[in-house]
Amino acid sequence: MANLKTKRDFPLDRIRNIGIIAHIDAGKTTTTERILFYTGRTYKIGDIDEGTTVTDWMEQERERGITIVSAAVTTFWTPKSGPFENQETRLNLIDTPGHVDFTAEVERSLRVLDGAVIVLDASSGVQSQTETVWRQANKYSVPLLAFANKMDVVGADYMATIKSARDRLGANAVAYNLPIGRENDFVGVVDLLTRKAFKWEGDGVNFTEVEIPVEMSSAVEAAREKLVEEIAGNDDELMEKYLGGEELEVNDLKKALRKAVIANKIVPVFTGSSLRNKGVQPVLDAIVEYLPSPQDIASVKGINPAGEEELRKSDPKEPLAALAFKIQVDPHVGKLTYIRVYSGTLKSGSYVYNATKQVSERIGRLLLMHANDREEIDEAFAGEIVAAVGLKDTITGDTLAEESKPLVLENISFPDPVISLAIEPKTKSDQEKLGLALNRLAEEDPTFRVKVDAETNQTIISGMGELQLEVLVDRMRREFKVEANVGQPQVAYKETITKEAQGEGKYIRQTGGRGQYGHCFLRIEPLARGTGREFASEIVGGAIPREFIPPIEKGVIEKEDTGILAGYPLTDIRVVVYDGSYHEVDSSEIAFKIAGSLGLSEAAKKADMILLEPIMKVEVTTPDEFMGDIIGDLSSKRAQILGSEKRGNYTIINALVPLAEMHGYATAIRSMSQGRATYYMEADHYEPVPNNITQKIIETSGFTGRVEH
Ligand code: GDP
Repeated sequence: MANLKTKRDFPLDRIRNIGIIAHIDAGKTTTTERILFYTGRTYKIGDIDEGTTVTDWMEQERERGITIVSAAVTTFWTPKSGPFENQETRLNLIDTPGHVDFTAEVERSLRVLDGAVIVLDASSGVQSQTETVWRQANKYSVPLLAFANKMDVVGADYMATIKSARDRLGANAVAYNLPIGRENDFVGVVDLLTRKAFKWEGDGVNFTEVEIPVEMSSAVEAAREKLVEEIAGNDDELMEKYLGGEELEVNDLKKALRKAVIANKIVPVFTGSSLRNKGVQPVLDAIVEYLPSPQDIASVKGINPAGEEELRKSDPKEPLAALAFKIQVDPHVGKLTYIRVYSGTLKSGSYVYNATKQVSERIGRLLLMHANDREEIDEAFAGEIVAAVGLKDTITGDTLAEESKPLVLENISFPDPVISLAIEPKTKSDQEKLGLALNRLAEEDPTFRVKVDAETNQTIISGMGELQLEVLVDRMRREFKVEANVGQPQVAYKETITKEAQGEGKYIRQTGGRGQYGHCFLRIEPLARGTGREFASEIVGGAIPREFIPPIEKGVIEKEDTGILAGYPLTDIRVVVYDGSYHEVDSSEIAFKIAGSLGLSEAAKKADMILLEPIMKVEVTTPDEFMGDIIGDLSSKRAQILGSEKRGNYTIINALVPLAEMHGYATAIRSMSQGRATYYMEADHYEPVPNNITQKIIETSGFTGRVEH
């Protein structure tokens, strides 16, 4: 292998930070793996079905055949066409998980990427999760190329796939190349702009230029016309020439297409079959040619300590601004913090300032992660993605900066967990390790939460789905050697209030010696669904000294976390402290904290509390003959059927269903359809629980709300 160190000094315009995103099973892992193979960093073509895929390096990922944790991998590619023809370019590839329980992983990788390839399954078109990843990519304005994979599969239909991307995603998806043959006879692609055709022999990786098959020529011209029209439509100068009937230069078209892709105006679609080694290399060339380099990205925005917005350019000479986007415990080097450097230079062995936490941290070593080895480096420049060893306090979402020029970049937002379960150590020695293991895992995964139930003293873990929790418990056993009993998964309800109310919190103990004195009046107001919590003080004139306001807030938050109605956390509530009193000698932080907590309890009891439950977006794909049974069953589950859609001999049913009704659905759907229907679900939003059900939940929760102070 060539000395990698000499390759590090890359001009920014030859770096691409990209991700591969997809619906589960569309072929993301296979495609990623082929990319790593063609770019020369793996030695043999592994096959996901045999469990040897390079990105799936974690043990249980292999067993499950799904990618759970994004691994940032650096690799090199020399395009055969385009502006960097025959020059080496560097690809930083972030693998994103395909399963919806790991949505947070997708979100956080999209946040640090400059562009992505969305893999579609040409035999089934846009699927439900494709919509989700598409929405996420849009949220961060990530420029996209689409890869219609599985052209070799029976039923593959390239044009229908493009149409479904246009119809279902509203994407301006346009064919960039056309397949030569389909299903078993799929052998190559025709590049529309250059009118060049390429053919792969057998399942080999090499391809050669061939003549465009005669019978395709009119289809090629029609598709080319459509592509040219779209490109010209996004470029005034080209449009003028186009309307004037002039022939447009290929290079001009390519340049305009690059601009349109970066501006999210066009999604060029490529076709191929990763498994059969066809059509992937043109996508690699296109990644370099059409997806942005760090230089093309607008300056990153952050907030300085004065509360003002500040911009930092993607330039190694600017002050440092870098985002920690992933913590991973590596079996060999310990805790790795993946970092995207936006501006400035990160040096190994140096101190950096965690501007989010306001602490100084030492970077021990800096590593470039390759698919199957890691390379120690001295510096990481603006635009790069690297892993650091040695950071102690930095967690996902924190900004690293220079102490003299601190800046906080926008944090990554994560959804609230919808499902939880109780976990109990098997032995006393497990007890000690349990807390440690759970905290470590929570550090890695921001959607995974751990808490100890104040009433039962049970440890409760929560997350986005059963699979996520299962995997985490599994990792706890393997990596931390903790044996634990795990309870049934429970729905993560939330509590909220429906009207404004007031409450008095009084904690006064004056029995000889120094007493306790905390006293406050709180007003609580319902907030719009999904807003979360707010706290404010309207104390004027010193009814409560200023230093006792934060303790009141602490007491309020503690109570909000514990719950009041049935032991679930409160949400969508604003708490205002508006009056109170204090005692010169007896007042203390702890007394005001308790008063805050008591005040909230009292107010909430007058505010008509209700429970909220997570509602899941469910998509069932079933052979037509089982449709009636499946819809009937969904209806008995309080489902709101949104609609159904026919695709071949299958029907796709879309519905919103309370998570509480979905327990055991995998088994149920199997027996209803002789194992032929499949489903997919993800958390959508929270809604009030119907009254009769609320009563049952409160009764079975056994929650008393009485935690002694
Ligand atoms: P992911 O869930 O998106 O990562 O998808 P995988 O890469 O794991 O692929 C899912 C399944 O589809 C595996 O069994 C692959 O072997 C298979 N597969 C992937 N790409 C192709 C393809 O181009 N053609 C065919 N026939 N199968 C494919």
